[in-house]
Amino acid sequence: MGILEVKNVGKRFGGLQALSDVNLSVAENTVHAIIGPNGAGKSTLLNCLVGKLIPDSGSVMFDGQSVLGRAPYEINQMGISRVFQTPEIFGDLTVLENMMIPCFAKRDGAFELNALPSVSQQKDVVDQAMHMLEEMRMADKRHMHAAAMSRGDKRRLEIGMCLSQEPRLLLLDEPTAGMARADTNNTIDLLKQIKQERDITIAIIEHDMHVVFSLAERITVLAQGTPLVEDTPENIKGHPKVREAYLGE
Ligand code: ADP
Ligand code: MG
Repeated sequence: MGILEVKNVGKRFGGLQALSDVNLSVAENTVHAIIGPNGAGKSTLLNCLVGKLIPDSGSVMFDGQSVLGRAPYEINQMGISRVFQTPEIFGDLTVLENMMIPCFAKRDGAFELNALPSVSQQKDVVDQAMHMLEEMRMADKRHMHAAAMSRGDKRRLEIGMCLSQEPRLLLLDEPTAGMARADTNNTIDLLKQIKQERDITIAIIEHDMHVVFSLAERITVLAQGTPLVEDTPENIKGHPKVREAYLGE
């Protein structure tokens, strides 16, 4: 049994069957990539895992417990954390202030932005945020405005903010989209480092095959809302159906 078990999930938007009969098993402590052409249903599937969408049919089990019908924050508390397609950080705040937000929220269960000045005086929160910035190798950027950072560093900060919640499953939706090659390579290295240093399972939706083949131990190919094949990277590379559906050959 995987830490994440998706069985027969279906999701329809009006006349469009975005997902049908999706089965996916993600083994604990692995990196599992989900690839597929634009519109294949990858983000829809992810939204079904984090409570942003409710599937019409099927089941989603995380660590033996159903996530269906739970609110996103509850699923988050169960140990699933998600990085969105566009970075969700506060550009006007410093890097350290951004990192204090999830650290505070983890301690107190909620956070309001206007509490930030007083939070900044709380040593335990500041220490924890600094510790995460050190792990993310960005302690030297702590006083920078988040908006002034490169796309790669924004992503790095955002991943760190997710990790400060100590998730068991990290979900990433196209984390390197729109990045220059150097930032993409930094993101690959960061995810490898996280995998080495933590007990964590990573499920990554990714368009860039360089990223996929650098990180993934298993790959699921989604096409037109349904899994086409699931296999090791070696087998996926040579799979004729994948080349046809995904690589356009
Ligand atoms: P991917 O992430 O693989 O590119 P998506 O999951 O975003 O694909 O979309 C799958 C299909 O569902 C697409 O045809 C998309 O237009 C459609 N879709 C996604 N979200 C919605 C929505 N909220 N309402 C209607 N259609 C949607
Ligand atoms: Mg998408």
